[in-house]
Amino acid sequence: MDFRFIPEQEEFRKEFISWVEKNLPDDWDSARYRKYETQEKLKQAYKDFQKKLFDAGYAAMHYPKEYGGQGRTLMEEIIVLQVLSTTCIELRMPGVVTHGMAVPTIFTCGSDEQKKIFLPKIFDGTHIWCQGFSEPDAGSDVANVSTMAVKEGDHYIVNGQKVWTSYAHMSDYCLLLVRTDPDTAKHKGLSYLLVDMSLPGIDVRPMTQITGEAEFNEVFFTDVEVPIEMLVGHENQGWQIAITTLMFERVIGDVVIGAAYEKNIHRMIEMAERTKRSGKAVIEDPVFRQQLAKSYIEVMVLKYHGLRSFSHQLKGGIPGPEGSIGKLLWSEPNQRLTETAIGMQGPNSQIMGGSPWSIDDGMWQYAFLRSKGNTIEAGTSEIQRNIIGERVLGLPKDISRAKIAKGKD
Ligand SMILES: Cc1cc2nc3c(=O)[nH]c(=O)nc-3n(C[C@H](O)[C@H](O)[C@H](O)COP(=O)(O)OP(=O)(O)OC[C@H]3O[C@@H](n4cnc5c(N)ncnc54)[C@H](O)[C@@H]3O)c2cc1C
Repeated sequence: MDFRFIPEQEEFRKEFISWVEKNLPDDWDSARYRKYETQEKLKQAYKDFQKKLFDAGYAAMHYPKEYGGQGRTLMEEIIVLQVLSTTCIELRMPGVVTHGMAVPTIFTCGSDEQKKIFLPKIFDGTHIWCQGFSEPDAGSDVANVSTMAVKEGDHYIVNGQKVWTSYAHMSDYCLLLVRTDPDTAKHKGLSYLLVDMSLPGIDVRPMTQITGEAEFNEVFFTDVEVPIEMLVGHENQGWQIAITTLMFERVIGDVVIGAAYEKNIHRMIEMAERTKRSGKAVIEDPVFRQQLAKSYIEVMVLKYHGLRSFSHQLKGGIPGPEGSIGKLLWSEPNQRLTETAIGMQGPNSQIMGGSPWSIDDGMWQYAFLRSKGNTIEAGTSEIQRNIIGERVLGLPKDISRAKIAKGKD
């Protein structure tokens, strides 16, 4: 199969790259890994850049015009996402859940009114979304969600707590998984709400990660009144919709992150050429050469797996359990890749950015620490392997999940 772009697509790619170069924020410094000192500045930079993309006709390329999209082709969407990943992925991070989960879920499962209200505001950068699934007692076992939503008149009254909610502190809306029927089997009593994060009774408390950043949060809900029009699908249909959201989350990484890793592997090769260990360039060390080759192969496998699953998704298919393969392909190899980078730097690897001795402004230190979350976020590696075993290979069910399916606790 020939994966090269045809001349028109290559022309569009060049045109878009040149647009991005001219339209990155004025204070954008591609040599600096941490672009913004505060999360508030990062949020504003994301929103401003998304607005520019929208105004120039590069946002939501393949979504229908009636919902604010461009009504263009699947390939143009892939080209735009890949260029953005390799030029300014840091600027895109606040929108990862928004574009990777909120957009496809609302588009696939939302009512026509919900699509018309929410999608255009996402595409033009007005709104950022977060995903409120995990709770202190419901992570891998999402069906265990205990945040309650009780219908009273034309509202649901929501009480409970979410945790690890990425970008909740920047978000305007939340994809919220709640329990609406506590008396039935766990996965049958869930519902899916679109919640305005400015409603009274919502308390967002940032949590600091190993990187020193507070990217995710605890979110507390106390008597929050959510209008019933914000229900997605039917009451107690939340499990099916949540699975759809998670499938999309697993697939988006393949194309977007795959392109970013490809850039990183070339940065690593370049670092191996200029970094010396025991008087010799690291690139000449046989062990590091093996590790670099292994990482390169893993990134290429992710890239081509991503192109296949993303094209299936954008042709109208809802991603299936094979999305778990992509999740494993972007999470575990990234931990190996960043470990290799740290190993190459030797003792200098202990120095973060900002020091005259730090290499690449501390980019690899940040990437190494952040990669630890890769095998947990969007479902742990163990859970992905269970899904592949049961739903792709047809192996017998994991005992704890078999109990859930039968409605036992
Ligand atoms: C960086 C980051 C960002 C995140 N962002 C979000 C977000 O925006 N929104 C959100 O809702 N959540 C988010 N999460 C939460 C994430 O989805 C959960 O952490 C994850 O699903 C695991 O749940 P848990 O932490 O409760 O671990 P647990 O479910 O308690 O699992 C603990 C360990 O047991 C293993 N385990 C559990 N069940 C099984 C089983 N059946 N078979 C084999 N092994 C099993 C797990 O693999 C894991 O190693 C984020 C997490 C991270 C790290």
